[in-house]
Amino acid sequence: MNFIDVNVGCLTLGKGRPVVVQSMTNTSTQDVGATVAQIERLMKVGCEMVRVTVPSLREIDTLSEIRSRVPAELPIVADVHYLPEVALRCAEIVEKVRINPGNYVDRPADVYSDSTTGKIAERLNPLVEVCKKNGTALRIGVNQGSLSARLKAANPNVKDALVASSMEFINVCQTLDFNQIVLSIKSSDVRTMVEATTALYDEMCKNGTVYPLHLGVTEAGNGEDGRILSAVGLGSLLLKGLGNTIRVSLTEKPENEVPVARAILQACGLRNFTTRFVACPSCGRTQYNIEEVFDKIKKRFSDYPDIKIAVMGCVVNGPGEMGDADYGYIGGANGVVNLYHKGTLVKANIPENQALDELAELITNYELRITNQQRWL
Ligand code: SF4
Repeated sequence: MNFIDVNVGCLTLGKGRPVVVQSMTNTSTQDVGATVAQIERLMKVGCEMVRVTVPSLREIDTLSEIRSRVPAELPIVADVHYLPEVALRCAEIVEKVRINPGNYVDRPADVYSDSTTGKIAERLNPLVEVCKKNGTALRIGVNQGSLSARLKAANPNVKDALVASSMEFINVCQTLDFNQIVLSIKSSDVRTMVEATTALYDEMCKNGTVYPLHLGVTEAGNGEDGRILSAVGLGSLLLKGLGNTIRVSLTEKPENEVPVARAILQACGLRNFTTRFVACPSCGRTQYNIEEVFDKIKKRFSDYPDIKIAVMGCVVNGPGEMGDADYGYIGGANGVVNLYHKGTLVKANIPENQALDELAELITNYELRITNQQRWL
């Protein structure tokens, strides 16, 4: 199997590489100040690649200015929807250009109708040439909303039509000897997105060449609903090993998307951004205010991405149920706490009001020791 690595500025997307957190600005691209300020806020919360919409040639100069003002370590993706000539210009400025296959075939009334691979290749070739010359990657974003009558007629099942459209563009890029492509399938229906993306991955495997995938659930909404939709959609694919960049789309300020994306990656065990916590739900055996203590522990000990801390409600089942946690805080009866390290009781019967300081000392001592050992290895 040939797994393709795609370079997007200083990042490389591909098998075995970290899954990259992406977000998208919602400022006008003509407003350089507001867009750069929003990108800076996104970088502060951990965004690693940012998408900026470029609806027309009017935004080309401002895109260029934005690129020059944003640090080079943050790749910019130009989102181009309608005009191939805009994509051409963007490919000279930013590290990746997102196109919709619908823009490269017969437009506008009968998108895709009567098109052939040869015709698509002819239209896509100028862009591919600019990408090759500038080291720019392309994202082929297939969208349920712009599937052609031709593909729909040939593939009554939406999932099959989305896969057929993606494979058509993969074939075109292969004809043009261009492999710096990332694929994505957009649908606001989570099941369709998951099934179509999985089917696309299987189809690429069948053909022997696998390109990176960008994952996102579009129109997920906001609040808890939007977060759950994204967690279900992205999480189910990530757990299968699919996905190289992700975006959590929320109808909120973009800065809110990044922590959710990072939490999903961490929950899937793919990247660690903060301390990993486990806590039991508590039950009738719990004899202390576990909710309050857990909140305090999360606030105080959130900056250890390499460790897992368990907060358990009782000494009866707590030690057994905290699994592979590095540190365990187990509340007992009568206001005392037991602390564990790697499953072993290391501090017993500590008064609750001293327990957090004792935990801090424990973590500092062990983590310092590990750091020192690593230094001497
Ligand atoms: S660890 Fe103890 S307190 Fe927590 S849920 Fe299990 S039995 Fe209940």
